[in-house]
Amino acid sequence: MERSDPVTHPALRNDRRRGALVRRCRYVVRFAPMSARLPLIVLVTLAATAVDVQAGPPQLNTDAPHDARVQAFVSKGLPTWLATYQHLHAHPELSLHEAQTAALVQRELRKAGYEVHGSIGGHGVVGLLKNGRGPTLLIRGDMDALPVTEQTGLPYASTVRVKNDAGKTVGVMHACGHDVHVANLLGTAQLMASHRELWTGTLMIVAQPAEELGQGSSNMIAAGLFSRFPKPDYVLALHVAPELAAGRVAVVPGWAFANVDSVDITVFGRGGHGAYPHRANDPIVTAAHLVTSLQTLVSRRLDPQQPGVVTVGSFHGGTKHNVIPDQAHLQLTVRSYSETARRKLLDGIAQLARDTCKAFQCSKPPVVNIKQNHTPAVYNDPALTEAAAALFRNVLGGEAVERARPTMGGEDFARYARHLGVPGLMFRLGTVSPAAAKRSRKKSAPPLPSLHSSRFAPDAERALRTGVRAMSNLALSILRKPGSGAAQAP
Ligand SMILES: [Zn+2]
Repeated sequence: MERSDPVTHPALRNDRRRGALVRRCRYVVRFAPMSARLPLIVLVTLAATAVDVQAGPPQLNTDAPHDARVQAFVSKGLPTWLATYQHLHAHPELSLHEAQTAALVQRELRKAGYEVHGSIGGHGVVGLLKNGRGPTLLIRGDMDALPVTEQTGLPYASTVRVKNDAGKTVGVMHACGHDVHVANLLGTAQLMASHRELWTGTLMIVAQPAEELGQGSSNMIAAGLFSRFPKPDYVLALHVAPELAAGRVAVVPGWAFANVDSVDITVFGRGGHGAYPHRANDPIVTAAHLVTSLQTLVSRRLDPQQPGVVTVGSFHGGTKHNVIPDQAHLQLTVRSYSETARRKLLDGIAQLARDTCKAFQCSKPPVVNIKQNHTPAVYNDPALTEAAAALFRNVLGGEAVERARPTMGGEDFARYARHLGVPGLMFRLGTVSPAAAKRSRKKSAPPLPSLHSSRFAPDAERALRTGVRAMSNLALSILRKPGSGAAQAP
């Protein structure tokens, strides 16, 4: 798959840089006079070490030497984290309104000994734990819930109803599992704070608002996430997976979530009586042709090896059977991985809209609006992902670590790694209880509820036990003390 955005693992980047330097220097040494060779060799060694020092984050140790201590802490902390999860689940807050969730996160982080900063790009929270020299690791969890009326029947199900920004009363539910994410983030934060002797560096805990709007990460970055606080060398996150058994995790090296673009198109005609179409110019017929032509962008113009989606999710025009309207309005979601594919689709949409309107003699050219600040695709650094998968296999057992397929869904976690040019990884955390898995295997059983479903009911206990254990071992490995355990190239 094409990579348009090179984000390379710093350890590998430095290995490469060091290799090139040593090769160049060897060449110089070979042609130097005998008397100058020894000092030159010393210089070359020093220079190579300097590049190594610049390498920053140590290479990952996939042995997870501290897992026994991690497990003991997880067993002790789990009842508290589960209670936090159930509280969050019962008190969900819509995007941009995460005030109470953020206050809870701040309280818990402060209690654990973090330096806490709130109101970063809305209700965003940053918790910093500086623990000596070493790399900075960012771990992110998102806090917002969805306008969904819960139908799980759980004892701690949400009964929250609020007026949304449009003034309509809606149910609110953590139907995307961000309550699991927050509980997991806090569990990991507490574990890391209680085991400072096992690691060195800076831990940056980020509780992000407004993920469901694709806005939270850019709001936090714009509010100075990386200028007011230390710049991370690695960024990590997890997302619950509604089809994966609780107790398991899954990884996707490379592209994992897609670029998400939203496009609005207005097609202009000339209204009139439905009985006299020849005296009008019908924008509905023009727009209908456009909807069909748009489907050829993926099927005919995009390289078949490049994933892409063009969906027209909304088509509005007219008021009555016998009135030809003045205009029709389309709303599209456009998905891709690479920047080349993204550009091809967006340019193609604008061109087809323009030329279809010309062909149908519209009253004026269409207006095509591509929403600014799109959600970029998540790219999981392959070296970091493979190293994390090896570590997870050592911790959870080979069976419990799956390789998932990339999806055309979006996740605004992408912005952190992209903005910083550092390796990032978002892995997936299984949530399906053994009972639910068994039920779903029965003949004619309904499929397992997806994310955003009003019936999504994760097995939070198993998920948190696995999630905190996996994330903490990975964090300890990235921030490991020099000389603690055998280093393995990622
Ligand atoms: Zn989500």
